[in-house]
Amino acid sequence: MKCDICGGVAVIGMPQHRLNLCAEHFVEWVPRMVERVIRRYAMFTRDERVLVAVSGGKDSLALWEILIDLGYQTEGVYIHLGIDHDAYSDVSQEHVRRFAEGHADVPYRVVDVRQEYGLSVPELSKTGRGKRLCSACGLVKRHIMNRIAYEGGYAAIATGHNLDDEAAVLLQNTLHWQSGYLRRQAPVLPSTHPRLARKVKPLCNLYERETAAYALVKGISFVELECPHATRATTIFYKELLNKLEGRSRGAKMQFYLHFLKAKEEGLFAPEKADADSETALRECRQCGQPTTAEELCAFCRLWQNIEAHHD
Ligand code: AMP
Ligand code: ZN
Ligand code: ZN
Repeated sequence: MKCDICGGVAVIGMPQHRLNLCAEHFVEWVPRMVERVIRRYAMFTRDERVLVAVSGGKDSLALWEILIDLGYQTEGVYIHLGIDHDAYSDVSQEHVRRFAEGHADVPYRVVDVRQEYGLSVPELSKTGRGKRLCSACGLVKRHIMNRIAYEGGYAAIATGHNLDDEAAVLLQNTLHWQSGYLRRQAPVLPSTHPRLARKVKPLCNLYERETAAYALVKGISFVELECPHATRATTIFYKELLNKLEGRSRGAKMQFYLHFLKAKEEGLFAPEKADADSETALRECRQCGQPTTAEELCAFCRLWQNIEAHHD
């Protein structure tokens, strides 16, 4: 396999783009793809400060590296969830630390859930009523990302979701015709409240194998373990289905996702009346001030309140 640009030895073939590239040209190509998406969806500009949510995994660290190389103003945030099994949270944090150190000490902060709120996420989910670990974890991460972005005045929060992640969610939502989720699934979620930063996914047009290859070629060290609690079986199953489709028909995965975005722009979904209503119905949580549709406390504060009630 030869590089389509220089004729050298290709390290990766991307049949969906009919493109084979050597290491040198691949690491030039990836940031160009990301830049294109950032502009196409007006994610952020070089005058804005971007908070990169880094998990220590390949996608978010690759994303951070690309944004730094492209000259964007970034800072990282790592949320230490207190997952002690396999020292998962400590090991992940160590990869973030090493990354920052290797990149002229790019600034990042660590939010340690146990230190700041008193319980780790696994402890929280054991004590808490009703919430399963992964959903409590998602809630905690979203809350903390919003809080840090608001306190630090960041214009946007960037996450490392790639095309495979987005296509798997899309397939799941389509199979259930989740019209609300389908309407909101997008590379950019605009801010709907002054306390909620815009959310962006600049890797959404790259396949997972491409972000993995990028991290490897660039020598980024990342945590290879999956979260020991992850109930990702469903997502993995949908990813496998999509990869089977891809094997039969190159580009199927990319078309499924990108054509969905295009169809949406062309008006596939009528705006939901409830959407507009719920946006105006955002109130500030009585305890933490974050926007919520609930009457008094946001879901995050309710989670902790339940626990205090339990301890009394
Ligand atoms: P996941 O839901 O674990 O696939 O993660 C999706 C994205 O969320 C990652 O690419 C990161 O940008 C972000 N993320 C996940 N876990 C953390 C964490 N512990 N701290 C900061 N950001 C995270
Ligand atoms: Zn080349
Ligand atoms: Zn709250």
